[in-house]
Amino acid sequence: MGEPIYFDNNATTPVAPEVIEAMAPYFSEHWGNPSSMHRLGSKAKRAVDQARRSVAALIGAEDPNEIIFTSCGTESNNLALKGNLSAQSRPVSFITSAVEHSAVLEPLMALNSEGIELHKIPVDPYGTLQQDVLAEQLKNTDTALASIMWANNETGVVFPMAEIAEKVKEAGGIMHTDAVQAAGKIAIDVKTVPVDLLSISGHKLYAPKGIGALYSRRGTRLGALQKGGHQERGRRAGTENVPYIVGLGKACELAMQQMEKDTNHERKLRDRLEAGILATCKGARINGDTLHRLPNTSNISFEYLEGEAIMLMLDDAGICTSTGSACESGSLEPSHVLRAMDVPRAFLQGSIRFSLGRYNTEADVDAVLEKLPLIIKRLRELSPLAAD
Ligand code: PLP
Repeated sequence: MGEPIYFDNNATTPVAPEVIEAMAPYFSEHWGNPSSMHRLGSKAKRAVDQARRSVAALIGAEDPNEIIFTSCGTESNNLALKGNLSAQSRPVSFITSAVEHSAVLEPLMALNSEGIELHKIPVDPYGTLQQDVLAEQLKNTDTALASIMWANNETGVVFPMAEIAEKVKEAGGIMHTDAVQAAGKIAIDVKTVPVDLLSISGHKLYAPKGIGALYSRRGTRLGALQKGGHQERGRRAGTENVPYIVGLGKACELAMQQMEKDTNHERKLRDRLEAGILATCKGARINGDTLHRLPNTSNISFEYLEGEAIMLMLDDAGICTSTGSACESGSLEPSHVLRAMDVPRAFLQGSIRFSLGRYNTEADVDAVLEKLPLIIKRLRELSPLAAD
């Protein structure tokens, strides 16, 4: 079998060749510590400063010092949530959405079990945040911080972040957004969207795994979780991972240059893929608001089937996708995102996420449209409920 056909870019992207090229000299020649005062140190420091400017530019941040490099999106989220909490001087209440990634939900649930009040805002059947419930919650509680994602990793649904952040700011709260799936895919401008804290992950935008960033608007109170040296202005101690930081900077530059091209390319392929699947596979439905969606993501459920089985058969055919269900403690738990959207029972277990990327081709889509209808037909023959 040749190269796998990759439709799982929301899980991770390959590292762009331009990124590898930009990183390489920082392993071999320019390996200095950015805190060192000599020439090798200065060379590394200049590279880190340049990368900080590139990350800031991607999200419209005016001051590069508002960017803190971290090890991943999960760390950025934890730093935003716990770092903000440690800077609060009064009892606090947090707000989040019912469809966040576990990298937000788990730290918030842990804080909740330690006594922090937590309110989850529901979504509607299209996966859109119920903003009237948010407004009511903001009116009724003294909210210290709201953490609401920019775009959902499972469905690709994009939240109206400007409206949401304005509501939270008017109520006097701090606004954090997990923009891990949005950054590099859609335009983000913190000059016009009043978020205070914003998380980014390198490996969702063609940089390596193990590098991330947190934007912290000037004046936002943030305690450090990791204490030690003065790196990242005392907000995240530890010698900087220079090659990976350079890689993230380069990936952000590429994302800015190519966003329009990537968007058009991915949307065109995604729409053809979806139309083809709906036309050839019985009992298929798209989950999520198709008008407000990342251009690369398609979450499709197949009535009465198991997503896991479809995903494994696609994998056997050389096609990498993912399923909305997570295999937890041996049982197939339907996705919390689809459950929050009240997806009908018959469609809950059978979801597959196709997430496209810069390097997908028409031929990749053709391969799915050739193999998937046969897989669905075969599974329907095996399942009494799902039979034609
Ligand atoms: N937030 C969202 C929305 C994600 O999709 C992911 C990863 O899938 C993360 C956070 C975690 O990012 P990382 O893998 O860099 O820790």
